[in-house]
Parts: sequence; structure tokens; C-alpha cells
Amino acid sequence: MSNPMLDTAGLPRFRELKPEHAIPALRELIAAHRQKLVELTERDGSHTFESLVIPLEEMQHELRRLSSPIGHLQSVLDDSGWRDAYNDALPLLTEHDTEISQNQALFEAYSHVAKSLPHVADDPRRVLLQHALRDFRLGGVDLPDEKKAEFREIRAELATLQASFEQNVQDATDAWSYAVTDEAVLGGLPASVVDRAKRNATDAGQDGFLLTLDFPTWHAVSTHAANRDLRKVFYQAWSTRASDQAEHSEWDNSGNIDKILALRHRMAELVGFENFGEYSLATKMAGQVGDVVNFLRELAQKTRPGAEAELAELERLAGGKLEAWDVAYWLEKLKQDKFSVSDEVLREYLPVNRVKSGLFDLAYKLYGLRLARNETVESWHPDVAFYDVLNEQGKTIGGFYTDLFARSGKRTGAWIDECVVRKNLTGENVLPVGYLVCNFAPPDENGVSLLSHTDVVTLFHEFGHMLHHLLTRVDYPAIAGINGVPWDAVELPSQFMENFAWHADVLIGASGHFESGEPLPRKLFDRLLESRHCGAALAMLRQIEFALFDFRLHAEYEPERGARAMELLNAVRSEVAVVKHPDYNRFAHNFSHIFAGGYAAGYYSYKWAEVLAADAFAAFEETGIFDAGTAARFRREILEVGGSRDIMQAFVSFRGRKPTIDALLRHSGIGQAA
Ligand SMILES: [Zn+2]
Repeated sequence: MSNPMLDTAGLPRFRELKPEHAIPALRELIAAHRQKLVELTERDGSHTFESLVIPLEEMQHELRRLSSPIGHLQSVLDDSGWRDAYNDALPLLTEHDTEISQNQALFEAYSHVAKSLPHVADDPRRVLLQHALRDFRLGGVDLPDEKKAEFREIRAELATLQASFEQNVQDATDAWSYAVTDEAVLGGLPASVVDRAKRNATDAGQDGFLLTLDFPTWHAVSTHAANRDLRKVFYQAWSTRASDQAEHSEWDNSGNIDKILALRHRMAELVGFENFGEYSLATKMAGQVGDVVNFLRELAQKTRPGAEAELAELERLAGGKLEAWDVAYWLEKLKQDKFSVSDEVLREYLPVNRVKSGLFDLAYKLYGLRLARNETVESWHPDVAFYDVLNEQGKTIGGFYTDLFARSGKRTGAWIDECVVRKNLTGENVLPVGYLVCNFAPPDENGVSLLSHTDVVTLFHEFGHMLHHLLTRVDYPAIAGINGVPWDAVELPSQFMENFAWHADVLIGASGHFESGEPLPRKLFDRLLESRHCGAALAMLRQIEFALFDFRLHAEYEPERGARAMELLNAVRSEVAVVKHPDYNRFAHNFSHIFAGGYAAGYYSYKWAEVLAADAFAAFEETGIFDAGTAARFRREILEVGGSRDIMQAFVSFRGRKPTIDALLRHSGIGQAA
């Protein structure tokens, strides 16, 4: 086997993998699977779960394991080769996927197996088949040939457009920089950001400072730069990325937005839905289009008075009207003023390694897990570490890679992805492995990387996803871990974990001053906690604005009128937002979650799942946050079941009742009597 990419038995051999391996390997595997599919579907009608579904599960598992590093490496490496490989791989994968979901013979065989499966309560096989049959229908299996072909073409084109959208955002972000010669302009910025800007300038053979638009720099400028003009310059650059309003308009996403929305709408129509909003809800927990819109509007209504009060308080402090580029800065000032808690002081107590081991301690306290660094596993970059995950009995149950620091060419944001999904189909137990990726400020010359509390929350969040992926007990990959879980419940385990980053015992335990090692003083923690509600309503309202925009954009799309993205964004803003944005703001053009990621007509999921997560954490608050019984129940009912169980039933089994919105409002300090 000369192509290392075809070796899908263990972990990816990252040191040997080259972009030129990707497409030949993919083609070879897909061709082999095609052949197997023909053999399977040409058999007579006597299929059983074992003879039909198990081979399909094996094939899907193998294909995902092979393609996982392609998607992963193109997002973490600054390498046009991987990017090209990924761009070439996408249409192949999409085409193959569509081919399977439109395979009439396979659909009939699955239907036959579903009918002949004996009725047993809580049989995961039944859930798997229900999902599969639903996905066949959503994939257009029932369509006449001509429309099937159209559906296929749309899916392929969408995959390409979405990748182009994301790459425009990244290229536009990477291409922008801002030179400063007068150090006074950088007043208020953390030393680490100033140092990095100085190094950038030196590397570019320039004097002074060169600021880039990576997330840590953008965040630092908007939060800390005393110079209002500098904040405005950055706000404009950030909010016009990949748009017609940007300095470099060659990465304008306007065309992509129009095309993506038109194609999604057409795709939904083809398989019998009124719009893409309905199509999206077919696989979610929330119910009908109206349920989502009402949920968001109710939340907006409860949140708006608080947000107005917060803005008024900021304007009082600033002594005048605030623009969009002032809010984060004055919010930070208010926090320092009112609670004397500064991000930068907190950072000193939160070096990344200390926080990481605190997080691992938490995993031990809650679930008895031990995380052990494994230096023998090869990776794609010196920043990467691999951890084995061991259970209470010392048995390895999975593993994960961490890649935590920002660097040029790496996709912004934080996420986890699956490297290997758990499977146990024929007695051999294949363990789950994942990637945990963040974009924290890289270590300084002394090797120290200090996290903001927001970074800590992000790390806990992603780790929550990772536990969902790793702790699954489901044997079938299609419904193991995160697979088969409705999108609007996927953020439950992650947002649940965020709450621990706000708990004294956990956070203080995960802290240690980068010089003295001294833990975060209790006083400082108390102030941080008090400051949690500071700006909470403004932040909540902003998320609701994004969610309502996304959902209405898809649900109210009319082909004859086109996307009208900016028009709708402005309408949603005038309904919901309290902070006004200038006309040049092109938030839609870099809203990758919905145009490039999986959140189309699904961004509301964050808020939906946050309700579940807050209510789940409230159970821990009631019994003690390290309570073994509660943790065991959460693990058993929620984390282990993956997509094998109806999520509302799972939640009720854990909580003893359906979720309510109260805990979220309480945690955010919104809508309670004073
Ligand atoms: Zn998440």
C-alpha cells in the first residue's frame, strides 16, 4: 500500500500524508464502495440488518476516516496544496453521498429491513433505520430521474460555493493589515498584542507596528484600544470582510450569498418543502418554522429591556452616544470600573497549561476520566498534542489531538472535528478520536500563552463537544457520539460545560499565576462572577439577531425577489438590536456559520441548546456540581446515547421533566425580579 491515505486502520499518518495522496485515495475507495454497493443491492430481497446495514456502516466509517484529515489539514495548515485537495475532494464526496441517498434499490432494501425488524423498545437499530429512511427522502430518493439529477447538481454546486465562501473570508482576513508608526496609537492594547505587531513589522521589513486581522488582534483592539479611530478602522475592516465594501473586493461574497440561498431554496422545494427553513427543521428538535421564530422573538422580548438599560449605562459612563465600535471597549471599562476586573489581570492567572490540567481534573471528578499525554502519536504541527482518554478502570476509551494557537493560514474560531468515530459492528471495538482546535494567542518568547476568561470558556465548550464524541457507547457510527443528534441539541454538552468555567471551585482550581503560580484570588473570582451579567443582555440580543436573520433569510426566501440579505438584516436589526450599525456593515458576507458551515436555518440552535444546557447545569447546582450521581446520570442519559435516542426523552430521563427557559435567564441575570 504505497498511498498512506488508504491506510485507514489506525490514526492518520500525518507525517507521510501529502496533498497529492488525497484524490487518488479517495477515488480508489469510492470506486471500491461503488462496486460493493452494486453487489449488495443486486442480491435478492432477503436483506437483514446484518447483511445490509452493517456493511454500509463499515463503508461510511472507512470513507469518513479517510476524508477526515483532508478537511482537517486544509483548515489548520497554511498550504495551498491541501486547500486544492480539499476543493477537489468535496465534489467527489458530495456526489458519492448523493448517489447513496438517491439509490432507489438501497432505499427499498432499507425499507424492507425496517419492516422486518422486531419491535423492541429502545432498539438503536430502529432509530438508525428511521434516520436513514428520513435521509433517503431528504436526499430525493423518491424523485423522477430528471429531478434527481437536478438535486444532485445542486448539492454539488452548493458544496463548492460554500467552500468558496469560507475561503473568501479567510483570504480577506489574512490579506488585511494596518501599519502604525506612532506607538501612542496603540495605547490600551495588551503588551502581547503590541509585541506581536512589532514582530510582524520587523518580519515585513518595516518600521513601527503591523497589526493583522486575526481574531485575537481584532478582539484586543475592539476591547482595549483607547484610540477610537483605531477601533473604527478595525471595526470597518472586520465587518466588511469578503464584501463589496471591503478594501480588497476580489473576495466579495455577494454572489455566493445569492447563489447559495437560491440553490438551498430550490433543493428544499424539490423534496417537498415550502422553503429551506422547513427542510432544515425536518432533522431538528424544534418543530415548525413558527416555533423557532416565536422562540427567538420571546427571548428577544425578555432580553431587550435589559439590553437597553445596559447600553444606557455604557453611554452614561462614556459621556455620550456610542457607535458599534465603542461598545466592547466601554463594556470592558465598565467591568473594570464597577467590578475592577480586567481581562488582562485575569489572563495572568490563566496560563494555558494550567487551565488545561484544571479542565482534565474536572473530567476526572465528574466522570473518572484520566487524560494522558501520548508523545508517540504523530501530528501535523509542533503545537499539537495528543491525549489518550482512560476510564475509571484505566482502560483507554478514545483520544484527541489539541491544536490551540492562532497562526497564519489557520481557519479562525474554535471547533472540534471527528477523526475516528466509535464503532463496534463485528465484535471489534474501534475507539473514537477527535481534533480540538482553538485560536488562542500564541506563546510569547518565554513560551507562555495566557488565556482570557472568554478563551477558557471556549476551551471548556469545545471539550464538552469532545466528551460527547468520546464517551458514546453507541456501536453504530451513524448514530454514535455527535452523529444523528439534532443540530439544535448538539450544543447541549458543550454549552453545559461552559458553566463550569464560571464556578469558583473549578476556575480557581484551573488557575495559577504565570510567574508566582498563585491561584486566582477569591476576590478576583467574585468580581468576575459579578461581571458575568455585565453586558449579558446585549450579548444575548446579538445572538438572537444573528439567529433570527439566518432563520428568516431561509424561511422567507422568494425566488422572484432574490436573497435580499442586507434588506432582511436591516429589518431584523431594527426589530431586535439596540446597537446601531453603519450602512457599510456587511455581517452577512462573513457569516460562515450559515453560508459555509452546518448552521443554515439552524443558528437558533445555539440559543435552543443553551436553554437545555442551562437547565441541565441547574440539576448540578441543585445537588452539588461534582455530585457523582448527577454526573453519572448526565453521562448515561445524554453523553453516552449519541443520536440513538430521542433527545427530548433523553433530557426528561435525566432531568425528570421537560426543559424550561428559567435557568438560562437566571444564569444571564435577565428577566428576573430584582
Ligand atoms: Zn459548539
